[in-house]
Amino acid sequence: MTAPRVRFAPSPTGYLHVGGARTALFNWLYARHTGGTHVLRIEDTDRERSTEEHTRIILDGLRWLGITWDEGPYFQGEYAARHRADAERLLAERKAYRCFCTREELELQRTQAEAAGIGFRYDRRCLKLASEEIVRRRDSGAPFTIRFIMDDQEIAWDDAVHGRISFQGRDLDDFVILRSDNTAIYNLAVVSDDIAMRISHVMRGDDHISNTPKQIALYRALGQRPPVFAHVPMILGSDGKKLSKRHGATAVGDYQEQGILPAAMRNFLALLGWSPGGDREILAEDEMIQLFTLEGIQKKSAVFDTTKLEWMNGQYLSALPVEELVEPVRRQLIRLGVDDDRDLRPLIESVKARSRTILHVADQVAVRLDPARATLDSKGEALIRKMGPAFGRNLGLAAAALAELEDKDWQPDQLVETLRRVAESQQAKLGDIMQPVRVALTGSTVSEPVNELLAVVGRERSLQRLSEMARRNGGVSVA
Ligand code: GLU
Repeated sequence: MTAPRVRFAPSPTGYLHVGGARTALFNWLYARHTGGTHVLRIEDTDRERSTEEHTRIILDGLRWLGITWDEGPYFQGEYAARHRADAERLLAERKAYRCFCTREELELQRTQAEAAGIGFRYDRRCLKLASEEIVRRRDSGAPFTIRFIMDDQEIAWDDAVHGRISFQGRDLDDFVILRSDNTAIYNLAVVSDDIAMRISHVMRGDDHISNTPKQIALYRALGQRPPVFAHVPMILGSDGKKLSKRHGATAVGDYQEQGILPAAMRNFLALLGWSPGGDREILAEDEMIQLFTLEGIQKKSAVFDTTKLEWMNGQYLSALPVEELVEPVRRQLIRLGVDDDRDLRPLIESVKARSRTILHVADQVAVRLDPARATLDSKGEALIRKMGPAFGRNLGLAAAALAELEDKDWQPDQLVETLRRVAESQQAKLGDIMQPVRVALTGSTVSEPVNELLAVVGRERSLQRLSEMARRNGGVSVA
């Protein structure tokens, strides 16, 4: 058996949607798993909606995800002559015919069918035209489309995902393959290209299932064996409806901006509709390639769960060496308006285990660079309310004790020791001293251990902020 040839064939009429990225990923994984070829074909035949900018965004998104291609990008628009030749061949072989019906006539036929309560199907009136009439109309310059003659017989295929799928030819129309401006309709262009590019497996979204019987009929009419079809399940939002902007970001670029790591995004997308077997979820690139099979693709639709994506990103973040995060975090900091040339490594180290995205890391680093940026979250507010005057008082005492430490002693061990002494002298719980410090420095009740937090924020900034917060909350300020 020769190695498979698969393709990703996006239309550059919009950004790279997560569904498209998932299709690309499955094709790529399959090509890599089988030692086959991954072809990239940009289907830019919709001239009004296709733009170079969209093509660029799609290519950038694929590159960001680490999805490579072995051939292309080919541009469908460059093959218009072949599409036309295929249509003309079908015409010459009487597998297609010229249709002179105008848009208005077709509209009328459609409304009449609807009024009669029957589904519209072109009534083949142009198939019945006498050849002299066809010549006369054509020579008079009347515009025409080319329609494919759809047989009444059953068209079925063994879908690699769904099993046997069948359609009745009599339910399908004699569909147009070439418009009156001589350009091919999607179904012809895609079949013509897939034949020319020797595509062996067509993997694409479920939403294309209704096109497949028409495409199979075209393959047969062109004397070719259809490829294997694998229709991958739809992606739904958390409410079970088709994923759309209502559910949040649907563009790959949005996730890139939110600080999702490409490896995490790729791992997450791979599991949307594919299961490697077992319950493993974190898979390195080579494991995914090794385990990917068409049999592993699921029939039922997949749910895009943002919480899971963030969880997965968190897993990738904490496994990543801090050095690799410095640049992406610095970029986000600049976007947040923070330009600080301090060594970010200890700060990133201190927050990355509790972070879900790069943006989240950057937010926390920004607060540690300058605690005045901290904003109180609901838990922080609740603590202040619950502790009442003790919040400011304890903060003031902590600040005063910490101020005794010299710069060289501003180390995690000495810091925790100092806070412990404050607690003992007040006969307070250690938490009643530490939590106010944490809230003052971060706005939240959850962070790295407080002594580490104080160490990364540094002596001067910590004391300044603690005093400020003590003063604002009725405690005694030391600064
Ligand atoms: N260009 C088509 C689309 O973006 C894909 C066609 C196909 O995969 O057959 O939906």
